[in-house]
Formats: sequence, C-alpha cells, structure tokens
Amino acid sequence: MAADFYLRIAVPAPLPKLFDYLPEHGKSLSDYQLGQRLKVPFGNQQLTGVLMAISHDTDVPADKIRPIAQQLDRKPVLNNTLRDLCLWASDYYHHAIGEVVETALPVLLRKGQDAAFVSRTVWQARENPDLNDISRAKRQFALYEFLREQGPASQDDIIAAGFTHALLKALQEKNLAQASEIHLPPALSNPNTSAQAPLPLNPEQADSLQSITAASGFQVFLLDGITGSGKTEVYLQAIQRILDAGKQALVLIPEIGLTPQTIARFERRFQCPVASMHSGMNDRERLDAWLMAQQGLARIVVGTRSAIFTPLPELGLIVVDEEHDASFKQQEGLRYSARDMAVKLASQLHIPVVLGSATPSIDSLHNALTGKYQHLRLRQRAGNARPAQMQILDMRRQAQQQGLAECLLEDIRQTLARREQVLVFINRRGFAPTLCCPDCGWIAECRRCDARYTLHRKPPHLHCHHCDHKLAVPAQCPSCFSQQIHPVGTGTEQLESYLEQVFGEQQVIRVDRDSTRLKDGFATVMAPVNAGQPCILVGTQMLAKGHHLPNVTLVIVVNADAGLFSADFRGMERTAQMLLQVTGRAGRGDKPGRAVLQTEFAEHPSLHLLCEENYHALALAILQERQHAVLPPYGFQALLRADAVNGAEAEHLLHLIQQDALRLQRDMGLHNVSLVGPMAAPMQMRAGRLRFQLWFNSNQRGALHQLLRHLLPLIHQHRGFHKVRWSLDVDPQDNQ
Ligand code: ADP
Ligand code: ZN
Ligand code: ZN
Repeated sequence: MAADFYLRIAVPAPLPKLFDYLPEHGKSLSDYQLGQRLKVPFGNQQLTGVLMAISHDTDVPADKIRPIAQQLDRKPVLNNTLRDLCLWASDYYHHAIGEVVETALPVLLRKGQDAAFVSRTVWQARENPDLNDISRAKRQFALYEFLREQGPASQDDIIAAGFTHALLKALQEKNLAQASEIHLPPALSNPNTSAQAPLPLNPEQADSLQSITAASGFQVFLLDGITGSGKTEVYLQAIQRILDAGKQALVLIPEIGLTPQTIARFERRFQCPVASMHSGMNDRERLDAWLMAQQGLARIVVGTRSAIFTPLPELGLIVVDEEHDASFKQQEGLRYSARDMAVKLASQLHIPVVLGSATPSIDSLHNALTGKYQHLRLRQRAGNARPAQMQILDMRRQAQQQGLAECLLEDIRQTLARREQVLVFINRRGFAPTLCCPDCGWIAECRRCDARYTLHRKPPHLHCHHCDHKLAVPAQCPSCFSQQIHPVGTGTEQLESYLEQVFGEQQVIRVDRDSTRLKDGFATVMAPVNAGQPCILVGTQMLAKGHHLPNVTLVIVVNADAGLFSADFRGMERTAQMLLQVTGRAGRGDKPGRAVLQTEFAEHPSLHLLCEENYHALALAILQERQHAVLPPYGFQALLRADAVNGAEAEHLLHLIQQDALRLQRDMGLHNVSLVGPMAAPMQMRAGRLRFQLWFNSNQRGALHQLLRHLLPLIHQHRGFHKVRWSLDVDPQDNQ
C-alpha cells in the first residue's frame, strides 16, 4: 500500500541513516511537525525517535514499512536550529543521526517523558457560588476568600497559610473549590534582587567589549587575556547588552569542581533568571532548566559541554570560557567538541561567539593569527594584581625530600609568616605512583590495564586510576615474599604528610579528587583557604583551573616536566596551558606572586620560552613544528579506535577497514589522505580490553571527510565482529 507521505525518523540506533515509517491511520500531513518525538516499533522493541523529515517516497518495500506507534509531543522538542545542528554534527563527526539526536535531548525526554514541568495539583475558588452554605462556617469562608484572592494555590501553600486539609475537603464537597493539574516551572526567579553593579572597565577591556557589541552577524572573537585580566567582566557586560536587546545568552564553561561557583557569579550579576546545567544536577533539574530556556523564561544558560544542545529561541550571543579546556570534547559516543559546535551554531544563527582563555588552544590561536577570528587581547591584570614571576629550579642540583627541594621550605616558611598562602601543585593523587619490591623488581601492576597501581594511605589500598580496580596493600612481595616492598615516587598524600610534619597539621590542606569526593566536598575543603588564613595547599589539576585564590603568593610546581616528553603531539601545548593555569593562581590579589617550576630538565627550550617570554612565544614555536609536520591546525585528523578482549579480532577489523579505505582512495582518486596503522594504542590494555588504532591524516579537510563518508557504511557491513567495540573520532584531542 503506497502512502501519501512517509515519516523519516531519527531512531537511537548505531546505523547511520534515518528510518522511514508510515503515519498513523487516518492522519494527514498537517498532524505532524518536524522535531516531534514519536514512539516507533524497531525490531521487536519500541523506541523514542524524532521526526527529522517528511518524504513522498521511500526505498523501504511496501510489505516491510510499518506505521509509527504514537506521537509523544504536540510541540517539537527539537527546533529547526537544533535539528540543523544535529544534522551537521552527524555529517561532520560521521556519527549515526539517531544517536546524535539522542545525545541532544535531556535524559527524561529520551525516555519518553512529557516535555513539561512537573505537574502539581492546585486549588481554585469556583465562580458564582452559593455562599449561603458557608456563611456561618468562618474558617471555610476564610479559606474560600484566600483562594479567591490567591488564585490557584497548591495544597502546601494552603496548609502554610494556616488552613487544614479538612477545610479544603469541606469546600470541595460543597462545590466551592476545585482541583486541577497544572505544570509550573520550579521557583523561577533568580533569588538575587539587588544585582551587582558592573565594574568600570580598563581600556583593554573596554576595547574588547566595544568590538564584541559592534559585531553584526556571525563573528568569532578570541578573547585572549592573561589570568585575572578581567575576561569574565567582559563577558558579563557583553551579555548585559544582549539581554537589554531582548535576547538570550549561552555560556559554556569547563567541567570542573568549581562549576557551581562560576554559575553563582553570573547569578549575582543579573536579576533575570539564569538556568544552569552541569553534572551535579539530576535529570529532573536538567529538564526543568531545558524547559525554562526553551520557553524563554531563562534568559541566560550557563552550563558545561552538553548545554550546547539547549533550545534558546532568542539566542544572541555565545561565550565559551576557558576554550582550550579538554572537557569541551566528549570522549565517548558522539565525540563532539562543544567549542567547535558553538562556532558552528553561531554561524548558523548569524550571531557573535566569544572564545575566552588565558592560554588559547593552538587551533584557536592559529585562527586568530590568520584573521579568521578577531583577536582581542588583555595583557594586564585587572585592578592592582600583577602577573606572577616565574622561575625554573634545576632539581639536579637540589637536596630534596619527598620530591620537594629543601631550599623551598624556607620560602614556604616566610610566606606563611607573612600570613599568605602557598600552593604546591603535584599532578598525582594518592600516596605514591608505584609500589615496588627492591629484591626482585616486582611492581604492583594492574592485571586489566597496562598501568601501575597507585598506592593510597587514606585509607590504605592500591587503586588503578584507569579501570578503577581496588586492592588491599600486600604485606610482602607477592613474587619473592620479601618484606621490603616500598612506595616509589610522590603523590599528594605523601607531600601532605611530609609538609604536616614540617609545618604542623593545621596549615596543610590537600585538594584532590579523593579529599573532595563528598557532596559539597570542594567547598568544605576550600573554606579555610577562601577565608584567607595562612596555609599550604597541596593539590592536583583540580586547583589549577579558574579558582580565584587572592592570598596565594607562592606556587610550587613539583614536577613541571611531567608532560615535556609526551608521545602525544599535544603534550607540550597541554603542559604549557597547565603550568600557566597553575602559576596564574599566584598573586591574583594585591600582593605580588612567585611561581617556582621544579624540573630535571632545566635546559628544556620550551620551559625557557614559557618563563622568560610568555605563552605566545611558546605557542608560535609549537605552531611552527605543527606546520612542519602537517599536524593540526595545518593538517586534519580522524582516529578509528577498536578494542576487544581478544585483541586479534579488533586488529583484524581495523585491517579490513584499512583495505576498504585504500580501495576507496584508489577508486576516488583521493590521494591526500594517509593512513597510519592499525597499531596498538599507547596504553594497549585497559580494563581487560586490548585497544588498536587506525589514523587518517590529510592536509585537506574535504578529502578526509569525503573518504570517511564513503567508508562508514562499509564498516557497518563487516560481519562477525560483535565482540569488537569501535568508534570514530574526528579531530581527536588525545592519542589514547
Ligand atoms: P579572568 O576571567 O580574566 O581570569 P576575572 O574576570 O575573574 O579575570 O577578574 C579577576 C579579578 O579582577 C576579579 O576579582 C574581578 O572582579 C576583578 N576585575 C575585573 N575587571 C576589573 C576592573 N575593570 N576593575 C577592577 N577590578 C576588576
Ligand atoms: Zn620481590
Ligand atoms: Zn586497571
């Protein structure tokens, strides 16, 4: 039976296509809207899909095509803008459209729940009643009056106003009050009634704001300002202009411990409702925030990566703060970059987008230097603060204890004596990175990963940070039974206890994933630090990002060389960003700061560029190397990963795909794409699975994508590999 039209639906399945269905019996074209959710039969299950297109023909044979089961929405959940964005992402990341759309929707909508605020029962007074019934019942009359004045009131409101359940029931029986179900947004208003005033801008800030607000249509700004230069103040004032023009703003921030703190800063400034979205929220809270944005009730959305998929019908500006941060790239499923999608979305909507960072990614810097992005620079710290002075400390000439140069103990003592704070940065949590036996050379290695266990003392256990496996600490060497096994290397716990021995317990505060694990853990641990009391902070990466620590005047980086010799070509870039983020914690208040980088490689040219010149000098050197090696941003990459318990199967699949790719290249004349692999991933075994990689490199983005587009359907055709997990990563951000 031929139908007048067919519904083309994004169904959450890994196949890279839309699926055609028949409309329900008797329904016409006007009954359907693009972007609506529909329940559809799929195999022998029912799935929630989204209507992406309507077509007048189909390739599906008439005896195979099925009608949809049910419409779930009257109003679309994916507006035109987001539908286009999903289609673009599916095409660019070569990822199944059904899974892209699934990623774009809040979890509760994926599960088929109503796109509505929680329903609540409210009570209303009936019109034109016969009041004789209650003219003598004083309390009933009072409740009736209350409902009339109040409008719809929830039972809680009624009880809170001093009435009882029995009174309400009495009114209902006399037909004077009626209940109804309504959907209400959660407490909407920003609790803040006295918004913080904007600061008077310094000239660099004022110029930047001027450029951003003068943008008409699509434009990308790279707001490149050292830490503490007042980038956030520029965002806030640019957003104010957008709100004044009756539009909405989207702010993307990295996924870190202080996300709630950043959100609070936006709430303090604006009186309008701010919706936030981050990993600390439950599914219901996320859906509520999504609905408030969709309905235009929230004027600002501040959120982490996935907030890029928030429907904002009046979006006028996008800000991506700390744009270099790795957390903007999703590392599973649809491996999208929220930063890159922000640029895409802005171009689609013809609006400006501001990418801000103290250490811009090499990619964005390249775009700024070539004029694709407008480069805005803030070179001074706002207010009185001055940048920290950086110093390299050659550890080969230093007496040391637990990885810390002894000469620095005196500096720490003096800093504390001035009632200031010290930050000791070490990028390893736990007590020690390894447990060894000196007698036979045994090392505590995870059996499921190519990695060593980290030794923890609080409480004592061995922990594999790659697969999360935990183990009791053995009393003797499991291999030769020697009693001499001991920790090697230093982690946060060990430094903490060493510094406690030297300076006393009150003054040492450890900040890492273990010490802040509990809810509100970060805020609790940081309370004395924020109160400004003299102390030594021992912390990991967690402390490095974005945190404002005005009383820290000495920063010590224990192993500044940890990333200098990384096998990943982005290693140097990431190390430089991390070092500057950490050292940027020093001297943010009125007092000058000092940063000491401990290293075994004091002559390393990159460290010198960074300390004696600045990030930009190093970034230019990195760009030259990349150009020479045709690596991003001069080259384009995609990485096909495959893993399996039986590694040979994963490797075999990649071999077959490589053959497919070479054949396609021959047939299509695509000679600009080079294939590297299949080869073992740098950490080959993780969580019991063996991992392999096939790299695609090209100096032409178009050629790379053309090849992938043709290759993808062929990958799905290989049979018998159901135990192999594979994924394609376009613009991969790490080589793992
Ligand atoms: P960034 O985001 O670049 O790290 P922030 O916006 O957090 O910098 O600003 C750092 C500090 O300087 C904050 O305490 C902020 O209130 C202050 N600040 C920003 N702009 C100004 C200004 N124009 N005048 C005075 N203080 C400012
Ligand atoms: Zn041994
Ligand atoms: Zn492991």
